[in-house]
Amino acid sequence: MDLPLVSGMTFGLGSDLFYNSYKRLFNPSILKDGLISDFGKWVGGNWGWAITWRRELFSWEIDLSNSFLKVLLDCTLQYNKPDSWEWKYDKSKLYTVRSAYNLITHNDLQQANNNMLSSLFWKSKAPLKVLTFVWRLFQDKIPTKDALLKQGITLHDGEGSLCVFCNEYPESATHLFSTCSISYSVWQHIYRWLNICVALPLSFYTHYSFFLGLVKTRKGWKLWSIIWHATIWTLWLARNDIVFNKAKSSIQQLLNSVMVKSWLWTKAQQGQEHILFEDWASNPLVCLNNFVL
Ligand SMILES: [Zn+2]
Repeated sequence: MDLPLVSGMTFGLGSDLFYNSYKRLFNPSILKDGLISDFGKWVGGNWGWAITWRRELFSWEIDLSNSFLKVLLDCTLQYNKPDSWEWKYDKSKLYTVRSAYNLITHNDLQQANNNMLSSLFWKSKAPLKVLTFVWRLFQDKIPTKDALLKQGITLHDGEGSLCVFCNEYPESATHLFSTCSISYSVWQHIYRWLNICVALPLSFYTHYSFFLGLVKTRKGWKLWSIIWHATIWTLWLARNDIVFNKAKSSIQQLLNSVMVKSWLWTKAQQGQEHILFEDWASNPLVCLNNFVL
């Protein structure tokens, strides 16, 4: 047993809990760098704990020590099994560069995205009801079919759990707004309309961050974000039209709907009233140019 006794490592106790609960006993410990083998010995095939302190323990420390020993006694050490470390950020319990990379980048990205969302999201010039919808989408609180089924809610008679756009995959938020072949195609048409060549991120959250990143100024972002929100809103309304009215739109119709919505929402802003739909439809970037770039 060459592993430290209290180091945040795991030997069946749950590392964080163990360390945080008993770190106050570290101070009166004689062997601060001791290994498990320094705190007991094998007697007749059984492990006996023997922990000594550099001074008499205070009464509150005695309680803590007793609790500590109780936890240790519940822990079974195996005589013939070699010590090993566990990496808790990978299912295999083994360290991998990928899991470490994910750990670092995910936290950073998440934090950066959260900061950006909280500071910019509600400043978009898209209508409030649309922003509220997208915000709920980011919180994973949109009533897609898979979400309803998870909540135990029965779908309408004859209505399956498949996406109504493609009828191939279960309807989840990620599928509906991003990976579905129909949605994906709509996004591709949107970028073609914007005259931007991209490889689309498959997560709509990443996609959103990416889309914002195309514009450098916060001032410009307020209008620019309208197009992204208009696309999401159009997809959601089109989905509801199929579910509730059995009315299916073509991809071209969906694209037109995004163009009209984003034009109306942009035109409603001060200083943008003069924009003609023909100009907007043929080159939205030119229309936004003075404001955005
Ligand atoms: Zn689909």
